[in-house]
Order: sequence, then structure tokens, then C-alpha cells
Amino acid sequence: MKPNISTFTPSGTQRPPVVGGCQKGARRNPAMAAGLEKGMCIICGEVRTGTPAKPEFPVRAARWLRATLKQPAKHTIACKEHLIEARQKRAKYEKKLRDYLLFAVLFFIFTIFGNFAFGGRSLWILVPAILGAAIIALLPQFYYFPSFEN
Ligand SMILES: [Zn+2]
Repeated sequence: MKPNISTFTPSGTQRPPVVGGCQKGARRNPAMAAGLEKGMCIICGEVRTGTPAKPEFPVRAARWLRATLKQPAKHTIACKEHLIEARQKRAKYEKKLRDYLLFAVLFFIFTIFGNFAFGGRSLWILVPAILGAAIIALLPQFYYFPSFEN
């Protein structure tokens, strides 16, 4: 049988046993152990120690951009005083995501059904229906707010 190089874990490969003692939580720094990090607060803009933003795609993209431009890393955090406010803003963003996803589905359904109801028989209606739905679903990205959940 030819070896399959396209898979990362070919059958027959055994993972080496995990040796304890080098896990994440075992750091000495108490701030690090609590999951805190130094960075700029997203609400007050001050450099403080706080809860770091979850590394979602926009956060990773911003970090990558700064690294590519050879600028010093500037991690986004929420300081202790603004953590609740930051989480509320995140909740608003997540609600917008859900709402707009619903609008996108409704737009898609109405476009397709409307077209057939008025005698349209071409499947080309799928193009504007999908494009329109995708644009609606992506609109909340303008309001992106990082997550500060642990
Ligand atoms: Zn703050």
C-alpha cells in the first residue's frame, strides 16, 4: 500500500505519551496564570493588565498586519474596570450577527419564492439571492467587537 502523505495522522502512527509538567496553567507568573495579559484596553485605551481578546479571525488578522509592518505587537485587552462593558458590547455584536443572519435567510426565501410566484422559472435567481443574502449576513462585521470570554 502506498503511504498516504496527504493526511496528517496516517494510520499506524502513535502519538507519543504526554509527559506532565509542561502544561499551560503551570506558569509561575500569577497574572499569566489568571489568563491576564498586558495590552491596550479596548474601552479606555490605556496600557494595562487585563483580559485578552479571544484570538478570532479579525484579532489574528490585526496582529498579523502589525507583525508584517514590523510594528510592535499591541494586544487588545479589557481592563478590570471595563471588562463588563466590553462583554456587553460583544453581546450586542453577537445579537446583530444572529439578527442579520435571520434577515439574510428571509431575504433568500422571499427572493426565490417571489421570483417563482411571479412566473420566473430560471435558476439564475439563485445568483442575486445568494449574493444578497451573503452581503446582509456580512454587514454586522462592520460592528465587530472582540470577545473577552476566558
Ligand atoms: Zn479600560
